[in-house]
Amino acid sequence: ASLPARLAHVVRDGAARAPRAPALRENGSDIDYGTLWQAIEAAAARLRALGVRPGDRLMVVGENCANQVALVFAAGLWDAWIVNVNARLSAREIDSIRDHCGARRVICTLCASPDAAAHGERMEAVCHAGPFGDWLESPLDEACAPEPVHADGAVQPAALIYTTGTTGQPKGVMLSHRSLLFVAAVSSRLRGLTPADRAYGVLPISHVYGLASVMLGTLYAGACLVLASRFTATGLLRALDEDRLTILQGVPAMYARLLELAGDGAAPLPNRLRFAYAGGSPLPPSLKAPAERLLGVALHNGYGMTESGPTISQTDLAAPRADTSVGRPIPGVAVRIVDAGGVDVAPGDAGELWVRGPNVMLGYYRDPVQTAAALRPGGWLVTGDMARQEADGALFIVGRAKELIIRSGFNVYPLEVESVLNAHPAVTQSAVVGRAAADGNEEVIAYVELDPARHATVEELHAWAARQLAPYKCPALIVVLAALPAAATGKILKGRLRDLAGAAQHP
Ligand code: ATP
Ligand code: MG
Repeated sequence: ASLPARLAHVVRDGAARAPRAPALRENGSDIDYGTLWQAIEAAAARLRALGVRPGDRLMVVGENCANQVALVFAAGLWDAWIVNVNARLSAREIDSIRDHCGARRVICTLCASPDAAAHGERMEAVCHAGPFGDWLESPLDEACAPEPVHADGAVQPAALIYTTGTTGQPKGVMLSHRSLLFVAAVSSRLRGLTPADRAYGVLPISHVYGLASVMLGTLYAGACLVLASRFTATGLLRALDEDRLTILQGVPAMYARLLELAGDGAAPLPNRLRFAYAGGSPLPPSLKAPAERLLGVALHNGYGMTESGPTISQTDLAAPRADTSVGRPIPGVAVRIVDAGGVDVAPGDAGELWVRGPNVMLGYYRDPVQTAAALRPGGWLVTGDMARQEADGALFIVGRAKELIIRSGFNVYPLEVESVLNAHPAVTQSAVVGRAAADGNEEVIAYVELDPARHATVEELHAWAARQLAPYKCPALIVVLAALPAAATGKILKGRLRDLAGAAQHP
């Protein structure tokens, strides 16, 4: 079937088909497709009245809530670009995105969450005007000029999404209506979603995983998105029970928290899930198996990045895997695995992963240099990830090219060291970074977060690593932190850890 031209048409079509079917569920009440479509049209009219024009960037600061969902669709109806920013970012981070994108208006949505008061304070820092209905809004920035609007609306940027900033400064990724809708349609089809499904909408819609794969994918199928502004393991338990979730899409850190709450040897949780998904960062086998036992369903793995809207590959629902594969490329997406010179490696060998398909971004906003480095002739996107592919098409992520640590001339992929540390019963999560050593070499430094219910000394962790890793891969230093620095998606911010490692005294 052909895709609609605008993100908002997903809701419009849903409302035409089944106006009373639930589209969103927020704080225990359903919002049907008809009501959501009306809210979108009303929001679009309000944006117009606020002076937001086609080609303008509309920045929305908030957390998952019905208002935020309506604004995403309303902006695109009117050919403005939505720039969703998570309210958990610092005021400085929010300001730097605002400056970079040249937002004509900044709107803050007030979530009906118990935490709302806490963020209200931070929102005031970027919003200068009083409340406007359920919004706070900044004054119009007259200096911000609109970008040209494409004649073909489908290739018009729908969203400007900033990357997590794991390897450096966040980059502004321009994704068209067509790219996002392609991912939504494929996600919904591969998951076999039906209007009877209720998917957990806890991944922030300010990130592409929460936006395209979860929010759009769910609404594309006419199913119901159960909104949650923040992840807590108790909130998830409640939603499994009270909201009768049938689909759970999350990041590995979410499943780790759930297992921590359930405790050792917990009985399987009663639930109506059909399956669960993890994506966004590596899924350790030491997490996958216990999470599957607890939930009683397969935990599938999906791989992607902001630049690819995000989905590149996912494991097949009909064929759950016990290994760490991120599955086969989704239909319509082609991959190559190449060496440093851009030449395809021998089948089965590891190399850098390149991707081509309708999901690939238009480019980085206001950054022609990085765009040229990422988008190569023929439409290939350079992922920066090292991968290998088995004969049946299954992809395995080996690590990030940029994170490679070179120790005494040997390659150390942090991912391998992290997998070993994560497998220790007391370790909840870990992150490994390189640090320049006095002898010109690089040292392997590990940061770990421990399960508060268990005990392990740093010496035990060193011994555990030494039993399973070659000496050059073993961490020179293991540091226990109460909590690893994480983005709103739960992703560990390795840049912060690299700074920490650089500044730390040598042991
Ligand atoms: P930045 O590009 O700003 O440094 P980032 O790459 O972390 O940050 P995202 O676009 O959010 O920003 O993340 C995409 C990256 O996450 C991928 O390139 C890959 O390294 C990693 N990733 C995503 N899913 C998986 C997965 N299932 N397994 C392993 N790694 C994954
Ligand atoms: Mg990246």
